[in-house]
Amino acid sequence: MLKGKVAVVTGGSRGIGKAIAEKFAENGANLAIIATRATEEAKKFIEELKEKGVDARLYTCDIKNPEEVESAAEEITADFGGVDILVNNAGITRDNILPSLSIMDIGDVIDVNLKGTMFVTRSFIRQFVRKKNGNIINISSVVGLMGNKGQTNYAASKAGIIGFTKSVAKEYGRKNIRCNAVAPGFIATDMTDKLSPEQVQEINKQITLGRLGSPLDVAELVLFLASDRSSYITGEVIKVDGGMYV
Ligand code: NAP
Repeated sequence: MLKGKVAVVTGGSRGIGKAIAEKFAENGANLAIIATRATEEAKKFIEELKEKGVDARLYTCDIKNPEEVESAAEEITADFGGVDILVNNAGITRDNILPSLSIMDIGDVIDVNLKGTMFVTRSFIRQFVRKKNGNIINISSVVGLMGNKGQTNYAASKAGIIGFTKSVAKEYGRKNIRCNAVAPGFIATDMTDKLSPEQVQEINKQITLGRLGSPLDVAELVLFLASDRSSYITGEVIKVDGGMYV
């Protein structure tokens, strides 16, 4: 479905981003993965992709730093000769009730999740406009739609991504650039590993399907949005949350 395409996946070294990268690779894409660290796990993942014949490379870059983002984007574009698909997946949580959130907890979450998504998109949009082709998928969260106690900073950042997605879709639709958001519910990754078994039990009660999702559940939807099968969909927010927010 993505044969010959070049995809950038931020936060593609672990969790949901890694599942998206794997799914894209299975479907013929080459991959530029952005993460803050070149961990052993991340390097091993790149090697595994290469063994399967995929041109896969890892770029260490903190997306909250616009200079780092700009130079990573230049390097990726030079290495691959251009980019077709951008998945803004990197994100963090710093959960607490509002008075207990430090200024840094608020700043970091907005800086990485919202500003980082904007910086990365800004760095690739010009080449999408030039070739009148591009596809952007932003990973928001169901919490950005419904809110969540203990996650005011995170929910605000993810709601911001939805406004950003719709605006990019409107600004660039005539240039044949699509931009959509995916809003996952609770997905079993390192991010949700921080939850206690009691918290998971409580969360499961809120989910229509009664269980957490897997990174693959999200990756299947992102693949659809990245492919031409969704060519008439833009400015949309699609939940993959097991019916958590119906
Ligand atoms: P995860 O397992 O914690 O992985 C996060 C990824 O983002 C890692 O590859 C990490 O790279 C990268 N990253 C973090 N900060 C970064 C930065 N400043 N610059 C560049 N890369 C950075 O997270 P996940 O659970 O897969 O979540 C992926 C996305 O889905 C996030 O946007 C998250 O908010 C969203 N989401 C997750 C859930 C869930 O239940 N898991 C639900 C809804 C939405 P390093 O390891 O190098 O730091």
